[in-house]
Amino acid sequence: MSMETDRYPSMMKALRENFDRGLTRPLGWRRAQLGAMARMLRENEKQIARALATDLAKPDQEVYLGELSLLFSEIRHAQRQLRRWTRPRRVHTPLVGQPARSWVQPEPLGVVLIMGAWNYPVQLVLSPLIPALAAGNCAVIKPSEIAAATAALMAKLIPRYLDSNAVKVVEGAVEETTELLKQRFDHILYTGGAHVGRIVMRAAAEHLTPVTLELGGKSPCVIDEDADLVSAARRLTWGKCLNAGQTCIAPDYVLVTRDRRDELISAIGDELDAMYGKDRLKSGDYAKIINRRHFDRLIGYLDDGEVAIGGQYDEGSCRIEPTVLTGVGAENDIMREEIFGPILPIIEVDSLEEAIAFVRQRDKPLAAYLFTRSRVSERVFVESVSTGNLCINDVLMFMSVPELPFGGVGMSGMGQYHGKAGFDRFSHLKAVMKRSRFPEITIRFPPYTDFKLRWLKRLG
Ligand code: NAD
Repeated sequence: MSMETDRYPSMMKALRENFDRGLTRPLGWRRAQLGAMARMLRENEKQIARALATDLAKPDQEVYLGELSLLFSEIRHAQRQLRRWTRPRRVHTPLVGQPARSWVQPEPLGVVLIMGAWNYPVQLVLSPLIPALAAGNCAVIKPSEIAAATAALMAKLIPRYLDSNAVKVVEGAVEETTELLKQRFDHILYTGGAHVGRIVMRAAAEHLTPVTLELGGKSPCVIDEDADLVSAARRLTWGKCLNAGQTCIAPDYVLVTRDRRDELISAIGDELDAMYGKDRLKSGDYAKIINRRHFDRLIGYLDDGEVAIGGQYDEGSCRIEPTVLTGVGAENDIMREEIFGPILPIIEVDSLEEAIAFVRQRDKPLAAYLFTRSRVSERVFVESVSTGNLCINDVLMFMSVPELPFGGVGMSGMGQYHGKAGFDRFSHLKAVMKRSRFPEITIRFPPYTDFKLRWLKRLG
């Protein structure tokens, strides 16, 4: 064990003591932490943008759109709703329990662990931290070491703004995380791939710690036969190229009816010209691939179909052009693994029903998209596709609604957060009943008689 990991047990002990003495309980403290987080983001916007430019060449506009604006809106929403969320929630007491009052009383869990992924390295550690603090927990944050500049910046900024007695940042890679996961947490929220998700869940099982797993998957985008192709192409292109496709809810592949395929490809080409110009590899509005390993993995997919648009790449700068592939077989790697990059297979189908069957034959995705003008198609899609999140006639935009819970289902994850769902995720919803001492109805007590049983059944 290194020096760094030696300190984990004492760090946990201190956090637990601080939690037990009630440091994080007062709503005033929680509000102050949320306010401090907003201030941290505002006062260091340039530094954050610089770190994200180093790690991912993230354009400033995408730093705001994909990371900061979401955090500001979650913070605002939590500040406004905090009193309502923390209040006891009264529930109905049936006749047999009367006279009494029953309610659900949210209480903080204790010390929670938040593990982020590298693709939105600010947002993915802070957006779970908002509900964790709003719910009154202490937290350990583990940013992804793969976005190294941003992880270092988070480790520097968080102790300056947030209460160090309640929030700790742990930096490190596999060795450190393995050791960290041996500690007992009261909840773990992990964002990343399924492989490590299993490692996290296994470690959590040792302590019977509940987990939230925010995983990925292949999010389909279905273009119905009557869809507005110009709008669909524009929105789809934006959602696929944002952060160079390294977005967990990016449309992974497209299913389009046969006769509209070429029209769609040409519309995507027009949008790419309008957004990134002709020399897309050099566009300052287009991020790079995080590292050489992911770059090589993505280049490997280019052989899985015919390049209809793009296909160029630059090893030196780790950039891959937005690329559309056709002629991709369902058995190819690109259709079996999450792409997580700017390569878009377009697959032809004969009908919406065939598209839905295609999606349903695969693991449940994190997001699913449908472009259509038809209310019937919309209804059929919403009712028959099981997915974490779903959006009609756009992509990604549900992220801007704090009242929509966010999270996967099946292989795309378990447990949701954002808004109240996040608050509840980091709370124990304690069930409380207060009985009145009088009158005492004695039919539940022995000695049991037929008469008492008859009455019990009647009160049911
Ligand atoms: P990653 O490599 O950054 O790993 C995530 C975390 O796991 C990091 O903190 C890392 O330090 C830790 N880790 C890595 N190996 C470990 C090990 N052996 N033991 C313990 N901890 C370990 O991220 P990734 O896995 O490349 O993330 C990409 C995936 O995340 C994609 O599938 C994407 O769809 C998904 N994702 C999901 C969401 C969401 O909100 N649902 C958001 C972003 C990304």
